[in-house]
Amino acid sequence: MNAPQALPPDCSAARFAQALRSFAAVLGDDAVLSAPSGLAAYLDPYSPLPDDDPDAFAPAAVLLPGSVTQVQAVLRLASAAGLPLWPVSIGRNLAYGGPAPRLRGTLVLDLRRMNRILEVNPTLAYALVEPGVSYFDLHAYLHREGIALWVDPPAVGWGSVVGNTLERGIGVTPYGDHAAMQCGMEVVLASGDIVRTGMGALAGGSAWQLHRDGYGPGLDGLFMQSNFGIVTKMGIWLMPAPETALLCQASFAREADLEAVVETLRPLRLADVLHGPAVIESAVRWAASVSARRDWHDGAGPMPVAALDHMIRALDIGWWNLRFGLYGPPALVQARWRIARKAFGAIDGARLTAWPYSAASVASVASAPPGGGAVGLLGVPSVAAMRMLSWCGGDGAHLDVSPLCPATGTHAMRQYRLVRERAAAYGFDYYGGFTAAPRCLHHIFAAIFDRADPVQRSQARALAHRLVDELGAAGYGLYRAHLDLMDRVAAQQDFNGHAMQALVQRLKDALDPAGMLAPGKQGIWPAGHPSTPACGTD
Ligand code: ADP
Repeated sequence: MNAPQALPPDCSAARFAQALRSFAAVLGDDAVLSAPSGLAAYLDPYSPLPDDDPDAFAPAAVLLPGSVTQVQAVLRLASAAGLPLWPVSIGRNLAYGGPAPRLRGTLVLDLRRMNRILEVNPTLAYALVEPGVSYFDLHAYLHREGIALWVDPPAVGWGSVVGNTLERGIGVTPYGDHAAMQCGMEVVLASGDIVRTGMGALAGGSAWQLHRDGYGPGLDGLFMQSNFGIVTKMGIWLMPAPETALLCQASFAREADLEAVVETLRPLRLADVLHGPAVIESAVRWAASVSARRDWHDGAGPMPVAALDHMIRALDIGWWNLRFGLYGPPALVQARWRIARKAFGAIDGARLTAWPYSAASVASVASAPPGGGAVGLLGVPSVAAMRMLSWCGGDGAHLDVSPLCPATGTHAMRQYRLVRERAAAYGFDYYGGFTAAPRCLHHIFAAIFDRADPVQRSQARALAHRLVDELGAAGYGLYRAHLDLMDRVAAQQDFNGHAMQALVQRLKDALDPAGMLAPGKQGIWPAGHPSTPACGTD
Protein backbone atom coordinates (compact mmCIF):
# COMPACT_ATOMS: atom_id res chain seq x y z
CA MET A 1 0.00 0.00 0.00
CA ASN A 2 2.81 2.43 0.87
CA ALA A 3 4.35 3.75 -2.34
CA PRO A 4 7.82 5.30 -2.07
CA GLN A 5 7.80 8.96 -1.14
CA ALA A 6 7.05 11.13 -4.15
CA LEU A 7 9.85 13.12 -5.73
CA PRO A 8 9.23 16.06 -8.06
CA PRO A 9 9.29 15.07 -11.73
CA ASP A 10 12.81 14.76 -13.21
CA CYS A 11 14.45 15.61 -9.90
CA SER A 12 17.04 13.55 -8.06
CA ALA A 13 16.76 13.05 -4.31
CA ALA A 14 19.95 15.05 -3.80
CA ARG A 15 18.76 18.03 -5.85
CA PHE A 16 15.41 17.92 -4.09
CA ALA A 17 17.08 17.92 -0.66
CA GLN A 18 19.09 20.94 -1.70
CA ALA A 19 15.97 22.74 -2.88
CA LEU A 20 14.25 22.01 0.43
CA ARG A 21 17.15 23.57 2.28
CA SER A 22 16.88 26.69 0.15
CA PHE A 23 13.14 26.93 0.86
CA ALA A 24 13.78 26.49 4.59
CA ALA A 25 16.37 29.26 4.52
CA VAL A 26 13.70 31.67 3.26
CA LEU A 27 10.58 30.40 5.01
CA GLY A 28 11.96 28.84 8.18
CA ASP A 29 12.22 25.11 8.95
CA ASP A 30 8.68 24.84 10.25
CA ALA A 31 7.27 26.12 6.96
CA VAL A 32 8.74 23.28 4.89
CA LEU A 33 7.16 19.86 5.35
CA SER A 34 8.69 16.83 3.69
CA ALA A 35 8.44 14.03 6.24
CA PRO A 36 5.70 11.46 5.58
CA SER A 37 4.00 12.47 8.85
CA GLY A 38 3.65 16.06 7.63
CA LEU A 39 2.69 15.11 4.08
CA ALA A 40 -0.08 12.75 5.15
CA ALA A 41 -2.43 15.69 5.69
CA TYR A 42 -1.88 16.73 2.07
CA LEU A 43 -3.14 13.54 0.44
CA ASP A 44 -6.66 13.44 -0.92
CA PRO A 45 -8.62 12.30 2.15
CA TYR A 46 -11.39 10.88 -0.05
CA SER A 47 -9.19 9.37 -2.72
CA PRO A 48 -11.02 6.91 -4.94
CA LEU A 49 -7.73 5.53 -6.29
CA PRO A 50 -6.94 1.81 -6.08
CA ASP A 51 -4.56 0.25 -3.57
CA ASP A 52 -1.84 -0.29 -6.15
CA ASP A 53 -1.86 3.41 -7.06
CA PRO A 54 -2.85 5.08 -3.80
CA ASP A 55 -0.45 7.97 -4.04
CA ALA A 56 -0.81 9.14 -7.62
CA PHE A 57 -1.72 12.58 -6.34
CA ALA A 58 0.94 12.67 -3.59
CA PRO A 59 2.96 15.86 -3.07
CA ALA A 60 6.73 15.76 -2.59
CA ALA A 61 6.69 18.55 -0.01
CA VAL A 62 4.57 21.35 1.39
CA LEU A 63 5.62 24.99 1.64
CA LEU A 64 3.82 27.42 3.93
CA PRO A 65 4.73 31.02 3.06
CA GLY A 66 3.53 33.78 5.37
CA SER A 67 3.59 36.76 3.03
CA VAL A 68 3.46 37.84 -0.60
CA THR A 69 7.20 38.45 -0.49
CA GLN A 70 7.74 34.86 0.63
CA VAL A 71 5.45 33.62 -2.17
CA GLN A 72 7.66 35.49 -4.63
CA ALA A 73 10.80 34.04 -3.06
CA VAL A 74 9.38 30.52 -3.29
CA LEU A 75 8.56 31.09 -6.96
CA ARG A 76 12.12 32.21 -7.65
CA LEU A 77 13.62 29.18 -5.95
CA ALA A 78 11.15 26.72 -7.42
CA SER A 79 11.69 28.16 -10.86
CA ALA A 80 15.47 27.85 -10.54
CA ALA A 81 15.15 24.24 -9.40
CA GLY A 82 12.40 23.38 -11.95
CA LEU A 83 9.91 22.34 -9.26
CA PRO A 84 6.15 22.60 -9.85
CA LEU A 85 3.90 24.19 -7.21
CA TRP A 86 0.24 23.53 -6.40
CA PRO A 87 -1.27 26.55 -4.60
CA VAL A 88 -4.10 25.98 -2.15
CA SER A 89 -5.69 28.44 0.24
CA ILE A 90 -6.65 26.08 3.06
CA GLY A 91 -6.86 22.90 0.98
CA ARG A 92 -10.20 21.45 2.05
CA ASN A 93 -11.79 21.06 -1.38
CA LEU A 94 -13.25 17.77 -0.20
CA ALA A 95 -14.67 15.38 -2.81
CA TYR A 96 -12.67 17.18 -5.50
CA GLY A 97 -9.18 16.16 -4.35
CA GLY A 98 -8.64 17.96 -1.03
CA PRO A 99 -5.21 19.63 -0.86
CA ALA A 100 -3.54 17.05 -3.13
CA PRO A 101 -1.88 18.05 -6.40
CA ARG A 102 -2.88 16.57 -9.74
CA LEU A 103 0.71 15.59 -10.63
CA ARG A 104 2.59 13.32 -8.24
CA GLY A 105 5.65 15.06 -6.81
CA THR A 106 4.29 18.62 -7.12
CA LEU A 107 4.97 20.79 -4.05
CA VAL A 108 1.85 22.06 -2.33
CA LEU A 109 2.01 25.81 -1.71
CA ASP A 110 -0.28 26.10 1.28
CA LEU A 111 -1.30 29.73 1.84
CA ARG A 112 -3.12 29.19 5.14
CA ARG A 113 -0.63 31.30 7.10
CA MET A 114 -1.65 34.31 5.07
CA ASN A 115 -4.88 34.65 6.97
CA ARG A 116 -5.53 38.32 7.54
CA ILE A 117 -8.87 39.98 7.05
CA LEU A 118 -7.39 43.11 5.51
CA GLU A 119 -10.51 45.23 5.38
CA VAL A 120 -14.21 45.06 6.02
CA ASN A 121 -16.19 48.01 4.75
CA PRO A 122 -19.60 48.10 6.48
CA THR A 123 -20.85 50.96 4.33
CA LEU A 124 -20.00 49.51 0.94
CA ALA A 125 -20.52 45.91 2.13
CA TYR A 126 -17.34 44.12 1.16
CA ALA A 127 -14.29 42.44 2.63
CA LEU A 128 -10.74 42.10 1.38
CA VAL A 129 -9.18 38.86 2.58
CA GLU A 130 -6.06 36.76 2.28
CA PRO A 131 -6.24 33.11 1.18
CA GLY A 132 -6.08 31.60 4.67
CA VAL A 133 -9.31 33.24 5.85
CA SER A 134 -12.04 30.62 6.27
CA TYR A 135 -15.77 31.24 6.21
CA PHE A 136 -15.76 30.53 9.94
CA ASP A 137 -13.05 33.18 10.45
CA LEU A 138 -14.83 35.86 8.46
CA HIS A 139 -18.18 35.12 10.04
CA ALA A 140 -16.68 35.16 13.56
CA TYR A 141 -14.96 38.48 12.83
CA LEU A 142 -18.18 40.13 11.60
CA HIS A 143 -20.08 38.78 14.59
CA ARG A 144 -17.42 39.84 17.08
CA GLU A 145 -17.10 43.32 15.63
CA GLY A 146 -20.87 43.77 15.44
CA ILE A 147 -20.74 44.43 11.69
CA ALA A 148 -24.15 43.89 10.13
CA LEU A 149 -22.93 41.94 7.10
CA TRP A 150 -23.39 38.24 6.28
CA VAL A 151 -21.06 35.76 4.66
CA ASP A 152 -22.57 33.25 2.27
CA PRO A 153 -21.16 29.94 3.49
CA PRO A 154 -20.71 26.92 1.21
CA ALA A 155 -21.99 23.54 2.46
CA VAL A 156 -19.02 23.15 4.80
CA GLY A 157 -17.76 26.34 6.45
CA TRP A 158 -14.17 25.45 7.29
CA GLY A 159 -12.84 26.04 3.78
CA SER A 160 -11.41 29.32 2.57
CA VAL A 161 -13.28 32.22 1.02
CA VAL A 162 -10.59 32.49 -1.67
CA GLY A 163 -10.35 28.78 -2.54
CA ASN A 164 -14.09 28.26 -2.72
CA THR A 165 -14.59 31.37 -4.80
CA LEU A 166 -11.80 30.43 -7.21
CA GLU A 167 -13.51 27.05 -7.64
CA ARG A 168 -16.80 28.87 -8.34
CA GLY A 169 -18.40 27.37 -5.25
CA ILE A 170 -22.03 28.02 -4.42
CA GLY A 171 -23.95 28.86 -1.30
CA VAL A 172 -27.58 29.40 -0.42
CA THR A 173 -28.28 33.07 0.26
CA PRO A 174 -28.79 35.70 -2.46
CA TYR A 175 -24.98 36.00 -2.49
CA GLY A 176 -24.70 32.29 -3.27
CA ASP A 177 -22.93 32.64 -6.62
CA HIS A 178 -19.52 33.12 -5.06
CA ALA A 179 -17.62 33.89 -8.26
CA ALA A 180 -20.17 36.59 -9.10
CA MET A 181 -19.61 38.21 -5.68
CA GLN A 182 -15.83 38.36 -6.09
CA CYS A 183 -14.49 41.83 -6.78
CA GLY A 184 -10.80 42.49 -7.29
CA MET A 185 -7.86 40.13 -6.84
CA GLU A 186 -4.16 40.40 -6.23
CA VAL A 187 -2.29 37.69 -8.11
CA VAL A 188 1.36 36.64 -8.17
CA LEU A 189 2.19 35.33 -11.63
CA ALA A 190 4.66 32.53 -12.36
CA SER A 191 7.18 35.24 -13.26
CA GLY A 192 6.89 36.62 -9.74
CA ASP A 193 5.14 39.76 -10.96
CA ILE A 194 2.23 40.99 -8.86
CA VAL A 195 -0.92 42.23 -10.60
CA ARG A 196 -4.15 43.60 -9.22
CA THR A 197 -7.23 43.02 -11.31
CA GLY A 198 -10.10 45.34 -12.17
CA MET A 199 -9.83 48.81 -10.69
CA GLY A 200 -6.94 47.55 -8.54
CA ALA A 201 -4.79 48.32 -11.58
CA LEU A 202 -4.77 51.94 -10.31
CA ALA A 203 -2.21 52.17 -7.53
CA GLY A 204 -4.26 54.69 -5.60
CA GLY A 205 -7.63 53.54 -6.92
CA SER A 206 -10.76 53.83 -4.82
CA ALA A 207 -12.96 51.20 -6.52
CA TRP A 208 -10.92 47.94 -6.40
CA GLN A 209 -13.58 46.14 -4.35
CA LEU A 210 -16.48 48.08 -5.86
CA HIS A 211 -16.35 47.70 -9.63
CA ARG A 212 -15.21 44.35 -10.92
CA ASP A 213 -14.65 45.00 -14.57
CA GLY A 214 -12.03 47.72 -14.49
CA TYR A 215 -11.05 49.51 -17.65
CA GLY A 216 -10.22 47.11 -20.45
CA PRO A 217 -10.37 43.31 -20.54
CA GLY A 218 -11.70 41.65 -17.40
CA LEU A 219 -9.07 39.19 -16.21
CA ASP A 220 -10.48 37.83 -12.95
CA GLY A 221 -11.99 34.79 -14.64
CA LEU A 222 -8.54 33.83 -15.90
CA PHE A 223 -7.51 32.99 -12.36
CA MET A 224 -10.57 30.90 -11.48
CA GLN A 225 -10.37 27.13 -12.01
CA SER A 226 -7.04 27.63 -13.73
CA ASN A 227 -3.31 27.50 -13.10
CA PHE A 228 -2.36 30.96 -14.31
CA GLY A 229 -1.43 32.60 -11.00
CA ILE A 230 -1.37 32.51 -7.21
CA VAL A 231 -4.14 34.61 -5.71
CA THR A 232 -2.89 36.41 -2.62
CA LYS A 233 -5.79 38.81 -1.94
CA MET A 234 -9.44 38.82 -2.92
CA GLY A 235 -12.32 41.21 -2.53
CA ILE A 236 -15.69 39.70 -1.77
CA TRP A 237 -19.07 41.39 -1.55
CA LEU A 238 -21.04 40.68 1.60
CA MET A 239 -24.80 40.76 2.08
CA PRO A 240 -26.14 43.48 4.36
CA ALA A 241 -27.82 41.73 7.29
CA PRO A 242 -31.53 41.78 6.41
CA GLU A 243 -34.16 43.15 8.72
CA THR A 244 -35.88 39.76 8.72
CA ALA A 245 -35.35 36.34 7.19
CA LEU A 246 -37.82 33.56 6.48
CA LEU A 247 -36.51 30.02 6.18
CA CYS A 248 -38.86 28.21 3.85
CA GLN A 249 -39.20 24.52 3.33
CA ALA A 250 -41.44 22.40 1.13
CA SER A 251 -41.74 18.67 0.67
CA PHE A 252 -43.12 16.93 -2.39
CA ALA A 253 -44.72 13.54 -2.22
CA ARG A 254 -43.74 11.84 -5.47
CA GLU A 255 -40.53 11.13 -7.31
CA ALA A 256 -42.05 12.55 -10.51
CA ASP A 257 -42.73 15.87 -8.75
CA LEU A 258 -39.19 17.00 -9.54
CA GLU A 259 -40.42 18.13 -12.92
CA ALA A 260 -43.20 20.32 -11.48
CA VAL A 261 -40.94 21.67 -8.75
CA VAL A 262 -38.39 22.89 -11.29
CA GLU A 263 -41.08 24.27 -13.58
CA THR A 264 -42.53 26.19 -10.63
CA LEU A 265 -39.17 27.34 -9.37
CA ARG A 266 -37.73 28.75 -12.59
CA PRO A 267 -40.25 31.57 -13.14
CA LEU A 268 -39.99 32.52 -9.47
CA ARG A 269 -36.21 32.73 -9.73
CA LEU A 270 -36.33 34.57 -13.05
CA ALA A 271 -38.78 37.11 -11.65
CA ASP A 272 -36.63 37.43 -8.52
CA VAL A 273 -39.51 36.43 -6.25
CA LEU A 274 -37.07 33.86 -4.89
CA HIS A 275 -33.88 35.88 -4.67
CA GLY A 276 -31.48 33.18 -3.53
CA PRO A 277 -30.47 29.78 -4.88
CA ALA A 278 -33.23 27.41 -3.76
CA VAL A 279 -32.01 23.87 -3.07
CA ILE A 280 -33.96 20.75 -4.03
CA GLU A 281 -32.73 17.74 -2.07
CA SER A 282 -33.41 14.06 -2.66
CA ALA A 283 -34.90 12.07 0.20
CA VAL A 284 -31.61 10.28 0.82
CA ARG A 285 -29.69 13.57 1.03
CA TRP A 286 -32.13 14.88 3.56
CA ALA A 287 -32.22 11.60 5.51
CA ALA A 288 -28.41 11.47 5.64
CA SER A 289 -28.43 14.70 7.64
CA VAL A 290 -30.47 13.13 10.43
CA SER A 291 -30.02 9.36 10.22
CA ALA A 292 -27.89 6.50 8.93
CA ARG A 293 -28.71 4.16 6.08
CA ARG A 294 -28.85 1.12 8.33
CA ASP A 295 -31.79 2.72 10.15
CA TRP A 296 -33.78 2.01 6.99
CA HIS A 297 -32.04 -0.74 5.09
CA ASP A 298 -29.05 -2.91 5.79
CA GLY A 299 -28.41 -4.66 2.50
CA ALA A 300 -25.82 -3.94 -0.17
CA GLY A 301 -26.76 -2.11 -3.35
CA PRO A 302 -29.08 0.86 -3.66
CA MET A 303 -31.96 1.14 -1.19
CA PRO A 304 -35.08 -0.54 -2.54
CA VAL A 305 -38.11 1.66 -3.20
CA ALA A 306 -40.04 0.11 -0.28
CA ALA A 307 -37.27 1.07 2.13
CA LEU A 308 -37.14 4.59 0.66
CA ASP A 309 -40.90 4.90 1.06
CA HIS A 310 -40.72 3.77 4.65
CA MET A 311 -37.87 6.19 5.37
CA ILE A 312 -39.74 9.10 3.80
CA ARG A 313 -42.86 8.40 5.84
CA ALA A 314 -40.97 7.79 9.09
CA LEU A 315 -38.97 11.02 8.76
CA ASP A 316 -42.01 12.88 7.49
CA ILE A 317 -40.11 14.28 4.52
CA GLY A 318 -40.71 14.29 0.77
CA TRP A 319 -39.21 12.43 -2.17
CA TRP A 320 -37.97 15.91 -2.94
CA ASN A 321 -37.39 18.60 -0.35
CA LEU A 322 -36.98 22.26 -1.15
CA ARG A 323 -35.28 24.89 0.99
CA PHE A 324 -34.84 28.56 0.37
CA GLY A 325 -34.55 31.80 2.30
CA LEU A 326 -36.40 35.08 1.85
CA TYR A 327 -34.81 38.25 3.17
CA GLY A 328 -35.63 41.88 3.76
CA PRO A 329 -38.29 44.07 5.34
CA PRO A 330 -41.23 42.00 6.71
CA ALA A 331 -43.73 43.28 4.14
CA LEU A 332 -41.47 42.30 1.27
CA VAL A 333 -40.65 38.90 2.73
CA GLN A 334 -44.33 38.15 3.36
CA ALA A 335 -45.26 39.19 -0.17
CA ARG A 336 -42.60 36.91 -1.65
CA TRP A 337 -43.68 34.06 0.61
CA ARG A 338 -47.36 34.41 -0.32
CA ILE A 339 -46.49 34.10 -4.02
CA ALA A 340 -44.10 31.19 -3.52
CA ARG A 341 -46.48 29.35 -1.18
CA LYS A 342 -49.30 29.60 -3.68
CA ALA A 343 -47.12 28.44 -6.57
CA PHE A 344 -45.58 25.42 -4.82
CA GLY A 345 -48.82 24.66 -2.97
CA ALA A 346 -50.43 23.98 -6.35
CA ILE A 347 -48.32 20.82 -6.66
CA ASP A 348 -50.49 17.98 -5.43
CA GLY A 349 -49.35 16.75 -2.01
CA ALA A 350 -46.93 19.63 -1.41
CA ARG A 351 -46.43 20.68 2.20
CA LEU A 352 -44.90 24.03 3.03
CA THR A 353 -43.53 25.46 6.24
CA ALA A 354 -41.61 28.62 7.10
CA TRP A 355 -39.68 29.86 10.12
CA PRO A 356 -39.32 33.61 10.66
CA TYR A 357 -36.12 35.17 11.99
CA SER A 358 -35.51 38.68 13.22
CA ALA A 359 -32.08 40.27 13.32
CA ALA A 360 -31.95 39.34 17.03
CA SER A 361 -32.82 35.68 16.51
CA VAL A 362 -30.28 35.40 13.70
CA ALA A 363 -27.68 36.82 16.08
CA SER A 364 -28.49 34.14 18.65
CA VAL A 365 -28.15 31.40 16.00
CA ALA A 366 -24.85 32.96 15.02
CA SER A 367 -23.45 32.80 18.53
CA ALA A 368 -24.63 29.23 19.20
CA PRO A 369 -25.48 27.51 15.93
CA PRO A 370 -27.68 24.45 16.36
CA GLY A 371 -26.83 21.34 14.33
CA GLY A 372 -28.27 21.26 10.85
CA GLY A 373 -27.20 22.81 7.59
CA ALA A 374 -30.19 25.19 7.40
CA VAL A 375 -28.16 27.76 9.34
CA GLY A 376 -26.34 28.48 6.08
CA LEU A 377 -29.52 30.22 4.96
CA LEU A 378 -28.90 32.63 7.84
CA GLY A 379 -25.34 33.30 6.75
CA VAL A 380 -23.93 31.07 9.49
CA PRO A 381 -21.24 28.56 8.44
CA SER A 382 -21.39 25.03 9.82
CA VAL A 383 -19.97 21.56 9.26
CA ALA A 384 -23.36 19.86 9.52
CA ALA A 385 -23.07 18.53 5.97
CA MET A 386 -20.24 16.25 7.12
CA ARG A 387 -22.91 14.09 8.70
CA MET A 388 -23.36 12.54 5.26
CA LEU A 389 -20.15 10.60 5.80
CA SER A 390 -21.93 8.37 8.30
CA TRP A 391 -24.66 7.43 5.84
CA CYS A 392 -23.10 4.14 4.76
CA GLY A 393 -21.05 3.38 7.86
CA GLY A 394 -17.38 2.46 7.68
CA ASP A 395 -14.80 5.10 6.94
CA GLY A 396 -17.04 7.51 5.03
CA ALA A 397 -15.92 9.49 1.99
CA HIS A 398 -17.61 10.83 -1.11
CA LEU A 399 -16.84 11.56 -4.73
CA ASP A 400 -18.96 14.24 -6.35
CA VAL A 401 -20.18 14.52 -9.92
CA SER A 402 -21.59 17.98 -10.57
CA PRO A 403 -23.25 18.55 -13.94
CA LEU A 404 -25.01 21.73 -14.89
CA CYS A 405 -28.65 21.26 -15.80
CA PRO A 406 -30.85 23.68 -17.75
CA ALA A 407 -33.57 24.88 -15.39
CA THR A 408 -36.47 23.01 -16.96
CA GLY A 409 -38.42 20.12 -15.50
CA THR A 410 -37.66 17.91 -18.49
CA HIS A 411 -33.92 18.35 -18.23
CA ALA A 412 -33.93 17.90 -14.45
CA MET A 413 -35.91 14.65 -14.70
CA ARG A 414 -33.71 13.39 -17.50
CA GLN A 415 -30.52 14.13 -15.62
CA TYR A 416 -31.88 12.75 -12.36
CA ARG A 417 -32.95 9.50 -14.01
CA LEU A 418 -29.63 9.09 -15.77
CA VAL A 419 -27.64 9.65 -12.58
CA ARG A 420 -29.94 7.62 -10.32
CA GLU A 421 -30.04 4.62 -12.65
CA ARG A 422 -26.32 4.61 -13.25
CA ALA A 423 -25.62 5.06 -9.52
CA ALA A 424 -27.89 2.11 -8.75
CA ALA A 425 -26.09 -0.06 -11.32
CA TYR A 426 -22.86 0.58 -9.43
CA GLY A 427 -24.48 -0.03 -6.05
CA PHE A 428 -25.02 3.56 -4.86
CA ASP A 429 -28.02 5.41 -3.50
CA TYR A 430 -29.04 8.60 -5.21
CA TYR A 431 -27.65 11.19 -2.77
CA GLY A 432 -28.16 14.34 -4.76
CA GLY A 433 -29.73 17.68 -5.18
CA PHE A 434 -30.17 20.68 -7.42
CA THR A 435 -29.21 24.23 -6.48
CA ALA A 436 -31.17 26.67 -8.58
CA ALA A 437 -29.87 29.75 -10.29
CA PRO A 438 -32.56 31.35 -12.46
CA ARG A 439 -31.56 29.62 -15.70
CA CYS A 440 -29.38 26.73 -14.66
CA LEU A 441 -29.24 24.20 -11.86
CA HIS A 442 -26.09 22.87 -10.24
CA HIS A 443 -26.90 19.18 -9.97
CA ILE A 444 -24.62 17.70 -7.35
CA PHE A 445 -24.52 13.94 -6.90
CA ALA A 446 -22.30 12.35 -4.27
CA ALA A 447 -21.26 8.71 -4.40
CA ILE A 448 -20.80 7.99 -0.68
CA PHE A 449 -18.38 5.14 -0.05
CA ASP A 450 -16.33 3.46 2.63
CA ARG A 451 -12.79 4.45 1.77
CA ALA A 452 -11.42 1.43 3.62
CA ASP A 453 -13.27 -0.83 1.19
CA PRO A 454 -11.34 -1.18 -2.11
CA VAL A 455 -14.38 -2.49 -3.95
CA GLN A 456 -16.58 0.46 -2.98
CA ARG A 457 -13.76 2.83 -3.83
CA SER A 458 -13.29 1.40 -7.28
CA GLN A 459 -17.04 1.31 -7.89
CA ALA A 460 -17.32 5.00 -6.95
CA ARG A 461 -14.49 5.84 -9.31
CA ALA A 462 -15.88 3.76 -12.17
CA LEU A 463 -19.30 5.32 -11.67
CA ALA A 464 -17.90 8.85 -11.74
CA HIS A 465 -16.01 8.18 -14.97
CA ARG A 466 -19.05 6.62 -16.57
CA LEU A 467 -21.30 9.48 -15.47
CA VAL A 468 -18.97 12.12 -16.86
CA ASP A 469 -18.97 10.33 -20.23
CA GLU A 470 -22.70 9.76 -20.37
CA LEU A 471 -23.59 13.23 -19.15
CA GLY A 472 -21.19 14.76 -21.65
CA ALA A 473 -22.65 12.71 -24.48
CA ALA A 474 -26.09 14.04 -23.49
CA GLY A 475 -24.81 17.63 -23.63
CA TYR A 476 -24.35 18.11 -19.90
CA GLY A 477 -20.98 19.56 -18.84
CA LEU A 478 -19.68 19.65 -15.26
CA TYR A 479 -19.01 22.82 -13.34
CA ARG A 480 -16.22 21.31 -11.22
CA ALA A 481 -14.44 17.99 -11.03
CA HIS A 482 -12.19 15.81 -8.88
CA LEU A 483 -8.47 15.60 -9.78
CA ASP A 484 -9.09 12.15 -11.23
CA LEU A 485 -11.70 13.53 -13.63
CA MET A 486 -10.09 16.80 -14.66
CA ASP A 487 -8.59 15.64 -17.96
CA ARG A 488 -11.75 13.77 -18.88
CA VAL A 489 -13.97 16.79 -18.31
CA ALA A 490 -11.57 19.16 -20.10
CA ALA A 491 -11.47 16.84 -23.11
CA GLN A 492 -15.23 17.28 -23.49
CA GLN A 493 -14.69 20.88 -24.59
CA ASP A 494 -14.62 19.82 -28.22
CA PHE A 495 -16.32 22.69 -30.06
CA ASN A 496 -14.38 23.53 -33.22
CA GLY A 497 -11.61 21.04 -32.70
CA HIS A 498 -11.13 21.86 -29.01
CA ALA A 499 -10.54 25.52 -29.86
CA MET A 500 -11.11 26.59 -26.26
CA GLN A 501 -8.48 24.20 -24.96
CA ALA A 502 -6.07 25.48 -27.60
CA LEU A 503 -6.65 29.07 -26.51
CA VAL A 504 -6.22 28.18 -22.86
CA GLN A 505 -2.98 26.41 -23.73
CA ARG A 506 -1.68 29.53 -25.48
CA LEU A 507 -2.47 31.58 -22.39
CA LYS A 508 -0.80 29.00 -20.17
CA ASP A 509 2.33 28.96 -22.27
CA ALA A 510 2.47 32.77 -22.31
CA LEU A 511 1.91 33.25 -18.57
CA ASP A 512 3.77 30.22 -17.28
CA PRO A 513 6.13 29.01 -20.00
CA ALA A 514 7.92 26.57 -17.69
CA GLY A 515 4.60 25.11 -16.52
CA MET A 516 5.43 25.62 -12.82
CA LEU A 517 1.95 26.35 -11.52
CA ALA A 518 -0.46 23.51 -10.76
CA PRO A 519 0.33 21.21 -13.69
CA GLY A 520 -2.79 19.35 -14.79
CA LYS A 521 -5.22 21.59 -12.91
CA GLN A 522 -8.49 21.56 -14.86
CA GLY A 523 -6.74 19.52 -17.58
CA ILE A 524 -4.29 22.37 -18.31
CA TRP A 525 -0.76 20.99 -18.62
CA PRO A 526 2.60 22.55 -19.39
CA ALA A 527 3.53 22.60 -23.07
CA GLY A 528 5.21 19.37 -24.04
CA HIS A 529 3.85 17.36 -21.12
CA PRO A 530 2.57 13.96 -22.32
CA SER A 531 -0.94 14.83 -21.07
CA THR A 532 -1.09 18.16 -22.91
CA PRO A 533 -4.07 17.91 -25.24
CA ALA A 534 -3.32 18.11 -28.94
CA CYS A 535 -5.75 20.72 -30.26
CA GLY A 536 -6.40 22.09 -33.67
CA THR A 537 -9.38 23.89 -35.07
CA ASP A 538 -11.60 22.15 -37.60
P1 ADP B 1 -10.93 25.31 0.32
O1 ADP B 1 -9.97 25.00 1.41
O2 ADP B 1 -11.53 26.65 0.41
O3 ADP B 1 -11.97 24.26 0.13
P2 ADP B 1 -8.73 25.01 -1.50
O4 ADP B 1 -7.75 25.85 -0.80
O5 ADP B 1 -8.54 23.54 -1.43
O6 ADP B 1 -10.19 25.39 -1.07
O7 ADP B 1 -8.78 25.50 -3.01
C1 ADP B 1 -9.45 24.78 -4.01
C2 ADP B 1 -8.63 24.83 -5.28
O8 ADP B 1 -8.58 26.17 -5.75
C3 ADP B 1 -7.19 24.42 -5.10
O9 ADP B 1 -7.02 23.02 -5.32
C4 ADP B 1 -6.47 25.23 -6.15
O10 ADP B 1 -6.52 24.59 -7.41
C5 ADP B 1 -7.29 26.50 -6.23
N1 ADP B 1 -6.74 27.55 -5.35
C6 ADP B 1 -7.07 27.73 -4.07
N2 ADP B 1 -6.49 28.80 -3.57
C7 ADP B 1 -5.73 29.33 -4.54
C8 ADP B 1 -4.91 30.49 -4.62
N3 ADP B 1 -4.78 31.29 -3.59
N4 ADP B 1 -4.31 30.74 -5.80
C9 ADP B 1 -4.49 29.94 -6.87
N5 ADP B 1 -5.28 28.85 -6.85
C10 ADP B 1 -5.89 28.54 -5.70
